[in-house]
Amino acid sequence: MKIHEYQAKELFRQYSVPVPEGKAVFSVEEAKEAAQNLDGFPVVVKAQIHAGGRGKGGGVKLASSMEEVETLANEILGMTLVTRQTGPEGRVVKKLLIEAGQKIEKELYLSLLVDRATASIVIMASRDGGMDIEQVAEKTPERIVKVHVDPLMGIQGYQLRQVGFGLELPAAAMKQFSQLLSNLYKFFAAKDCSLAEINPLILTADDQVLALDAKVDFDSNALYRHKELMELRDLDEEDLMEVEASKYNLNYINLDGNVGNIVNGAGLAMATMDIIKNAGAAPANFMDVGGGASSEQVENAFRIILADDKVKAVLINIFGGILRCDNFARGVVDAAKKTGINIPVVVRMEGTNVEEGKKILDDANLGLASAVDLIDAAEQIAASVN
Ligand code: GDP
Ligand code: MN
Repeated sequence: MKIHEYQAKELFRQYSVPVPEGKAVFSVEEAKEAAQNLDGFPVVVKAQIHAGGRGKGGGVKLASSMEEVETLANEILGMTLVTRQTGPEGRVVKKLLIEAGQKIEKELYLSLLVDRATASIVIMASRDGGMDIEQVAEKTPERIVKVHVDPLMGIQGYQLRQVGFGLELPAAAMKQFSQLLSNLYKFFAAKDCSLAEINPLILTADDQVLALDAKVDFDSNALYRHKELMELRDLDEEDLMEVEASKYNLNYINLDGNVGNIVNGAGLAMATMDIIKNAGAAPANFMDVGGGASSEQVENAFRIILADDKVKAVLINIFGGILRCDNFARGVVDAAKKTGINIPVVVRMEGTNVEEGKKILDDANLGLASAVDLIDAAEQIAASVN
């Protein structure tokens, strides 16, 4: 689960990770008031959306007077901000962070993330902050310091120093940086983060370090342990259909293609997407209704996919195990009755109670095409969309 920069900074404050003074606001009036409460100018006006690259897209600007705060707040609130992370459709800005402007001596990069390969938490740091870290990693990988922390041992003093030296910090900033990193690690572990990224972490002229930006992602599977974090979820920033699917515990991800698919089991869903691609078409979604889905869940899954305008055909691929084929078929029939089907649907079904399932679908007369196997299903689907 992603959160906004202002929310991440609030959490940083709780863990004594230094951040600039600032306040989140929803209107131009509030923006002026928040700026008034800061200690002079410049004041930074920052769009709050769940995507990075806001600066380049025109979503982060410096104001040197109250009039400018007003102009910028007016301009940024409500704008459709397009960044390299939002896709071409962009995101409408509904909130701003009004922050005390900082005098930047140096922009650095610092992040913590879970590294599955080594089962550790990896700290990444670079002197080249403020820019795309992917570019630094590609062109000058030697300028990124990586330190792996064993989660059972926790972060060690020598590791804090290793990162600090890697950033070539002046001696006067070293102690404060160690504290910052140690606190950031505590936050990361305590809240089950999957990512905590500070880009840029800045060094000021008087050798202070602080987080100018904050990007945090929590492990959604651990959210049940953190009721306080669930309140930070912003449904406005999430895909509408994904939010709808999550209500029914469906594992759904919206994609760009035009072949909707409904599958039980994540592995089978991945394989189905591959086979759709192989046949020359493109999946419109990933949808795993789960091994033990009820016919009601199937109905909701089908309804969500049929409501998607870009879907021109649907491939249903079910292996009846815990979810029996007859139960699955009932879900499909119920959804079809409610929504109506006006696009080609190909069904490939195997497993427990398959004959019964097929009979239910046939009797309902929905005009579904059945496939003998998965290759046949994918070819039929590709033929209908191409
Ligand atoms: P992002 O573009 O979404 O990553 O947003 P950031 O919060 O990283 O801001 C983008 C850039 O704006 C930073 O890299 C800084 O160069 C600049 N910026 C942000 N806050 C300040 C500030 O207080 N003072 C100055 N001088 N520049 C700032
Ligand atoms: Mn940034």
